[in-house]
Amino acid sequence: MADLLIRDVALPDGRAGQDVLIDAGRIVDVAPGVAAHAARTIDGGGLLLSPPFVDAHFHMDSTLTYGMPRVNRSGTLLEGIALWGELKPTLTQDAIAARALAYCDWAVAKGLTAIRSHVDVCDPRLAAVEALLSVRERVKPYLDLQLVAFPQDGLLRSPGALANLKRALALGVDVVGGIPHFERTMADGAESVRILCELAADEGRLVDMHCDETDDPLSRHIETLAYWTQRLGLQGRVAGSHLTSMHSMDNYYVSKLIPLMHEAQVAAIANPLINITIQGRHDSYPKRRGMTRVPELMAAGVSVAFGHDCVMDPWYPLGSGDMLEVAAMGLHVAQMTGEDAMRAAFDAVTVNAARILRLDGYGIAPGCRADCVLLQARDPVEAIRLRATRLKVFRAGRLVAESAAATATLHVDGRPAEVDWMPARPGNLPPSAAS
Ligand SMILES: [Zn+2]
Repeated sequence: MADLLIRDVALPDGRAGQDVLIDAGRIVDVAPGVAAHAARTIDGGGLLLSPPFVDAHFHMDSTLTYGMPRVNRSGTLLEGIALWGELKPTLTQDAIAARALAYCDWAVAKGLTAIRSHVDVCDPRLAAVEALLSVRERVKPYLDLQLVAFPQDGLLRSPGALANLKRALALGVDVVGGIPHFERTMADGAESVRILCELAADEGRLVDMHCDETDDPLSRHIETLAYWTQRLGLQGRVAGSHLTSMHSMDNYYVSKLIPLMHEAQVAAIANPLINITIQGRHDSYPKRRGMTRVPELMAAGVSVAFGHDCVMDPWYPLGSGDMLEVAAMGLHVAQMTGEDAMRAAFDAVTVNAARILRLDGYGIAPGCRADCVLLQARDPVEAIRLRATRLKVFRAGRLVAESAAATATLHVDGRPAEVDWMPARPGNLPPSAAS
């Protein structure tokens, strides 16, 4: 007898009426009308069963520090970095770990069970590195935490950053990070990209750099990142995070750049909540949106994910670990309102992000790890529209979080009536791509 049978669910690819059989932490069958018995059976009620949300870009060392030591008044990236610089020496490992664990609770409750977090390595104590390495172990039963060695104050600009970054990798941090646009000159930025890509090639690491997070259209470190990726044979192992300068670049230059990124298999990670608030701060009107060119990158075959980036920290006062909120903002900022584009926004916080993180056994298919989320929605677009409640969250077949369904009762005409959040679909809108 299997451990768990989830009956009658819809899958993100549009298949409806599917049963999902789970045993020993793995999915063993996905089909309509599975003829098997399980120790526990759940009725999915035709709702969407998705693989869990994946956040491809986060900062867990700064999360939940909003207001410490004061708030970011200009709202800019640079004041955020300065604030974080004031705060950093005062932080203890215990305090960083406590806030990170609190955030992991929020994440799991929202069906977010894999996070790539950058961790600042410019503190000579490496307090955040030590704290997040311990958090990574503690949350392992329910959340995959991948850590990026991030030289926040600049690899070349900050004394000792390269040595600290290497120490962090030796301690167990997974991925090589960078921040070329924060170096003192364009030349130093390019040099930092070369050094970091060579380090990654030598050590067999993935790379994920904060890259061109600026409105300056001449910030072109992504070109250098694609170049070194190609030259060092790192294809498929490198991601550029933010890439907001692409928003402001000349179209002719971009027509050359995007194919270079595709050729080098460099992934792009946009952070819509943060970049719609941080970019364009030097503009009067019109005010640029600042997010990178998501639909164009997707159309060219570049892997694109959306990250949450920040939750209640020196850069962003809001957030709750809800990747559907992230997808919704990305969809709006990039004007991705076509049916396929909306589904692509859902992919950007699920499968695309999982591919960039190289997660093992991700998906709703036989052989995959039984990580899944039952959403109070019938398809990915409805999930984004409703920021759907995560009714149940499973990790390796074990229930790790559940929420009561979102309901509302109206009393407007004297007789209580339930609000129907999921009306019958309009006749011209197919219920799913596959039907
Ligand atoms: Zn970031």
